[in-house]
Parts: sequence; structure tokens; C-alpha cells
Amino acid sequence: MVKKVVFLGKDVIAENERLAQKLRELYDKYGVTVYEFLGGPGSGKTSIIERLIPVMRRDYPAERMLYVGGDVATTLDTERIARLGVRTIQINTGGTCHLEVPHVEAAIKQLGGEKALEEIDVMIIENVGNLICPFNFPLGAHARIMVVSVAEGEDKFVKHPISTKVSDIIVINKIDLAKAVGVNIENMVRSAREINPKAPIVLASARTGEGIEELYRVMKEYVSRNK
Ligand code: MG
Repeated sequence: MVKKVVFLGKDVIAENERLAQKLRELYDKYGVTVYEFLGGPGSGKTSIIERLIPVMRRDYPAERMLYVGGDVATTLDTERIARLGVRTIQINTGGTCHLEVPHVEAAIKQLGGEKALEEIDVMIIENVGNLICPFNFPLGAHARIMVVSVAEGEDKFVKHPISTKVSDIIVINKIDLAKAVGVNIENMVRSAREINPKAPIVLASARTGEGIEELYRVMKEYVSRNK
């Protein structure tokens, strides 16, 4: 008997990538622009989205905007976003630390199936709060936006180089707290840029609203450049 240890990770990730490509084709077929927000718990993903939606409303009517909230157990974030009048769907993973393609497919089914995407112009996916796993499982989004707050520490990008590298746009959030937590924002920007020279970096504060207009401008620009 040969004892062996099998790592399924690579196969699972490769299969998810193939399915993510199919999801992207589905989004494009129905003209839905999809933004995915990723980042650790408490980085401010929901708060950034809360600030963004009123800005995005200049381009889209509320009923043609869909928020898909990934969470382990609660509906708290989705309830916050629903107050803004956009359509929302909650996905509870029941313990899994990230969303996978079947979760998004289930959300589309909940919406009313593939055809219902005709009623949607823009989809915002908020992944489960986690700075590692979600980055390995793309969901076919047109832009993957990494949110890191200064409160997580100056070395966050260096400690998570893979997540930093695969992100299309990087948001450094809670810049209003930088002094209080003793973080040098320039150092943070420099370390992110060293790992990912291509991704635009936006400095923001969901609390004060700083950087939100710029973030949306960057998001639109990124998508129009890469479509
Ligand atoms: Mg959240």
C-alpha cells in the first residue's frame, strides 16, 4: 500500500476558472457589467459599496442594479445595501470562506434565471470577508477590486502578494485613520505597487466619502479599457 497525500486545490481552482469564463460570457451576453469587491473582514467593503451606489445611480436606475452579498451566516450587509433601493440577493455559504461560481449561478437562478439578467445593467458582488481564499476563485467579474484598510497594517500587501497581484483595482480604505493607527500611506502604496504595478490604487475613506468619486471613475475606465 502506498500512502499518499492528494492536494485537490489546483484542480478545483482550474475548474472554477473554466466556469468563471462561462459566467463572464453570460454577463456579456446580457450586457451586465460586474464588479467584485474582495478584502478582509472589516476592511470596509460594504461601506465602500454603500457610498458608491448613490454615485453609480447617475448612470443606472436602482432597479437595474443588483447587489449580491456573500457572507458566511448573516444578511446584515445585504440589509444595509437594500436600504439604498437596489435589488439585492444574499448568498450564505454556510461556512465556506469564499464564493465560487455555483454561488453566483444560484443567485442568478434566484433572480429569475438567465433571462432575468436582461433587467440588470450592473452587478456588484461582495465576496466573503477574507483576504486569501476569494482571490483564488474568480467569478468572471469585469473588475476585481481589492479593499484593504490602513487599520489592517502597513504590511498587508506584502503579506498577501498573491491576492494583491490578481486584483485589478486596489482601494486603500480608512485613510482618515492612518495617523491614529500609525500607518504611512505612502509606504502602503509603494508596497502594493511593487507587487502589482498595473492596478490603479485609490485612497479612500468610506466614512468621509473621500476617494469614492475617483474610485468609480477608475472602475469605469478599467472596464471600458478591458472589455
Ligand atoms: Mg461586508
